[in-house]
Amino acid sequence: MKEKTIFEKIIDREISSDIIYEDDRHIAFLDIFPFEKGHVLVVPKKAYETIFGMPEDEFLDLQKIVFKVVNKVHQKLGGGLNILQNNYKIAGQVVPHVHFHIIPRNEDKKLYYPSDAKYEEGEKEKILEKIKF
Ligand code: 5GP
Repeated sequence: MKEKTIFEKIIDREISSDIIYEDDRHIAFLDIFPFEKGHVLVVPKKAYETIFGMPEDEFLDLQKIVFKVVNKVHQKLGGGLNILQNNYKIAGQVVPHVHFHIIPRNEDKKLYYPSDAKYEEGEKEKILEKIKF
């Protein structure tokens, strides 16, 4: 059997995460190494490696959730925002399970990997409470 991705382990609650939204086909949670505070990953529960393997209707459903998360994050955290989606290692994909990055931009700095953004004590919980729905 194929080994579970880290995101399948999050979906199956084998590892913990800070979930902001969940339905029967999608989950959204805070990135563990945020580019900026409030960086969220939106993930389909069905494990496709890239969007190239996804049926169009499932991709469009996922985009609807991305749109909802984008609006929630922007409404609560303000500023600018990037939507980023990587396919294959050559394009920067590390976790082989489709996901969208929703990255609020409130600091004047470039995005680079690995990120040095860090939550102060209690700050992550406050942001989580704000953007959860
Ligand atoms: P990629 O480079 O594949 O587009 O992005 C994968 C993202 O998953 C990275 O931003 C990384 O910080 C995040 N990530 C990797 N492992 C974990 C984890 O165990 N928990 C959470 N919440 N995020 C993770």
